[in-house]
Amino acid sequence: MSARMPVVFVSHGAPDALLNAPDAVACWQQIGRQVTRPKAILVVSAHWEARRPTASLSGVPPTLHDFAGFAPALQRMYYPAPGAPLLAERAVALLSNAGIAADLHPSRGLDHGAWAPLTAMYPQANVPVTQLSLVQHADAAYHVSLGQALAPLRDEGVFILASGAITHNFAWMTRDGQAPLPQAQQFNDWVAQRLSTHDVSGLLAYRTESLGHEAHPTEEHFLPLFVALGATHGDPVMRYQPRFSYGNFSMDAYVWGGATHPA
Ligand code: ZN
Repeated sequence: MSARMPVVFVSHGAPDALLNAPDAVACWQQIGRQVTRPKAILVVSAHWEARRPTASLSGVPPTLHDFAGFAPALQRMYYPAPGAPLLAERAVALLSNAGIAADLHPSRGLDHGAWAPLTAMYPQANVPVTQLSLVQHADAAYHVSLGQALAPLRDEGVFILASGAITHNFAWMTRDGQAPLPQAQQFNDWVAQRLSTHDVSGLLAYRTESLGHEAHPTEEHFLPLFVALGATHGDPVMRYQPRFSYGNFSMDAYVWGGATHPA
């Protein structure tokens, strides 16, 4: 049996984070060094939503440049990791065993929520990777149940990487270098406090109990965190705090459990 792998959540920031968020990139590189090399990676990114949880069977997942208006250099970046179709099938089987109907997609590639952090973590692109979608119109508790169903993958050498944002309000965007708005910092710290005590029920109430509705006018960038939470087995969590990007996009990352190397 493999050593139990950690679960990781990263805030992937804007599509140009690889170019313009060096603190976050250094954090992702550090996590890549610390995590035991996985057999395969399952990414749950904010940038793929489907009617049911859906995993990609692609054997050669294309790099999706699912953005516009950023530096041309980003359009020339590719992440040529092999796909992980067997992992996709295993993930769907685990979900089905938990009573959650799930689908397979024949060819879906890697969106920037996946390939940006993976480029920093595994620059050689030699670990097989597949993505699993979020579910449209499903709430945070539902996404915790996805993570619970997928948790056995951690004992099969699979690194579950949830990629979203701790704060994601475009109206809060400012220039880099300015101090974060008090409400962005406050919500960021509120989340960190609850994660430090594994207060899942508190986090599930994030839209009413804190500034969650402001920090996330739409939920999709926060939902990957709940998938991660479902898979943690209550393991202790380590917080990483790279500088905010675009003023108010928290770039915080969290790693739960697993066999980790020193940085
Ligand atoms: Zn995003």
